[in-house]
Parts: sequence; structure tokens; C-alpha cells
Amino acid sequence: KKHQMATSFSRLPPLPALRDFIHLYKLRAKKVLSQNFLMDMNLTNKIVRTAGINEGDWVCEVGPGPGGITRAILDRGVSRCDVIELDQRMLPALRHVGEAAGGRLHVHHGDVLKTEIGDIWTEAGCSHGSQWTDDPPRLHIVGNLPFNIASPLIIKFLRDMSYRRGPWKYGRVPLTLTFQAEVARRLVSPIDCDTRSRISIMAQYIARPKLLFTIPGTCFVPPPKIDVGVVRFEPRVTPLIGVSFEVIEKVARQVFHYRQKYAIKGLKTLYPEEIADEMAHEVLKETRIDPTTTSIKLGVEQYGDMAKVYERQCRSMPGLFAYDYTKPKVTVEMLANGEKALPPKCPF
Ligand code: SAM
Repeated sequence: KKHQMATSFSRLPPLPALRDFIHLYKLRAKKVLSQNFLMDMNLTNKIVRTAGINEGDWVCEVGPGPGGITRAILDRGVSRCDVIELDQRMLPALRHVGEAAGGRLHVHHGDVLKTEIGDIWTEAGCSHGSQWTDDPPRLHIVGNLPFNIASPLIIKFLRDMSYRRGPWKYGRVPLTLTFQAEVARRLVSPIDCDTRSRISIMAQYIARPKLLFTIPGTCFVPPPKIDVGVVRFEPRVTPLIGVSFEVIEKVARQVFHYRQKYAIKGLKTLYPEEIADEMAHEVLKETRIDPTTTSIKLGVEQYGDMAKVYERQCRSMPGLFAYDYTKPKVTVEMLANGEKALPPKCPF
């Protein structure tokens, strides 16, 4: 019943213009929080529209600030919108928007990196979930966050996606986030491009990241010096790699560590010196990867093949997975006696 009532408020009643709102609530952007607000409703509407948000959907917005994107979400006729904002100064303004939204807006004060969006939906009695193999559910996560938060957050989100936990226990929930244009290009980078990096592999094996459009920095208040890319991620029904996120991440990190060098050089850093040559060659031999190839010339599936062999090596040598070449020297004996440190199992 409650749900039906809420969907009848499909548009927001008039509110003070965002610009006046910011003056009214004295919400000057804080540099320390890297705040850059989007004031152009054409752009906020475009983000919401291209994110695929429709009437009756549920949305969680991260870092709403004074609520430009929030207004666009509510105006789209969603039946519930949860927002998570760290800066307390924004809360009265967001509650003001909430009053106009007929009970559809729920404001949470907190750090998105420490907030479980899945729990928010569960506590709200979410019934929008779908099976992983079904079409994506009518649930969305969106946000224009500071760049220093967007990068760690996307890794956390991709990891949760791979384990189908948190928001992804409700199915293949799409995610739409803004990034500095350079990071956006890396996320969607194809093979053999200068922008190809670890994050390309991590994003593309588990999801289909798509650069929806870019926004010139000048559209923000205050304007950052760089342009911004809006990227949408739809989780894949079948991930391209059947190894745990952590194992893939470790292999990709080490191989991309020496971007310009042969892949073997990076691979060797996965192992203590005495066994590095042998183990790294084993990986390349089994995967039939040319040792003189470079990180950017390897496909997602090839990272998958390498991760599979490395994962098996880690299982037969407990402790190997915890090996970190930047830490003081570790011997093969120490590794073999390692207590636990087996890599996490592939969750699907
Ligand atoms: N989304 C708004 C817009 O587009 O105008 C605001 C954008 S501003 C770049 C980012 C917002 O995220 C700020 O309001 C900031 O306070 C908030 N924020 C920063 N770190 C956060 C975190 N860890 N958790 C939640 N919100 C955060």
C-alpha cells in the first residue's frame, strides 16, 4: 500500500532553484571535501535518464551534496530514493527536498565506503530483487562523488558485485558513477590502448562498463580543472573469469606494474626470488602467452588464464598468496609453512 501511494507522486512540486537553495542553506562547496556541484538540471536529468532510472524504481544515490541529481531522480517518479551524504551541512537542504517528495526520499548521514546499501534496501523491505540470470532489477546506484572516493569505491563495488553480496544480492543492479575523464577512459579501455590498466580488467571481467558521456569541468561549481566521465556498469550474467576477485586483482596489479616491460617481469614479482623464474614461466607456458608481450596487449581472458594458474600455485603453496614483493625478504620455506593464506575461492 505504502509503495503504491509513493509511486503516485511522480514529479517534484516546485522548489527554489538549486542556486538559490545553496545560498539559502549556505552550502559553499568545501575544498577539503573536493565538492563540485552540478547545477545544470539538463545534465542531472541526463545522468538519471541514461542511467536507465524509471518510474517506480528504487535508487540509492551516493554523495548527493545539495541534491541536484537527487531532484532529477525524484522527478523521474522513482518510488524510493535513499541518499548517503557525509557532509552534515547538506542534510537540512536534502530534507527540504525530501519534504517536497512525499516520503520517497530517505536521507542517511554517513560515509558511503562504510555504508551497506544492501542493508538499507533490506530494512526498507525491498521486493525489487531478481535472479542473477534475469534482467537487472528495478534498483540503481548512482552518484557524483569526489574523485578520491570514486576510485576506492568502484573497487569495493566491483568486489561486492563479484561476490553477489551487498546491493548485488538483489540481482544485477546497475551502477552509474562519475569519474575524472582519465579514469573513466581507463575503466572502458579496450585492449592495446594506452589507457589500458588494472582497473580495465577488473571492471570488464565482472561488468560491462560503458562511458555514457563526458561533462566539461566548467559545468560544475566550482569547476574542477578536469573533465568528468559518466560511466554505467551492468554486471555480466557470467563473469569472464572464474577466479576470485582478489586473485585476479593481484595478478593484474603485478603485470601492469611494469606497463612498458614484458609481462614476465611483472609476473615474477608474484613470487619470492628463488622460485620466481620457474613459477612465472610455468604460468606463461600453460597459458601459451608470449613472454615478450606487454600488459596492455593481453585480453581479459588471458588475465583470467594467468589468474587460474597462479591460483592453483597458491593452493599448492599455502602462504604464496600473501607474498608481497615490497615487504622484507620471504623464503620459500617460510611460505610453505605459512599458516593459512590460501586465496579466496571463486564465489560462483
Ligand atoms: N552529487 C552532488 C552534485 O552532483 O552536485 C555533489 C557532488 S560533490 C563532487 C560530492 C559529494 O559527496 C559532496 O556533497 C560530499 O560531501 C559527498 N561525499 C564526499 N565523500 C563522501 C563519502 N565518503 N560518503 C558520502 N558522501 C561523500
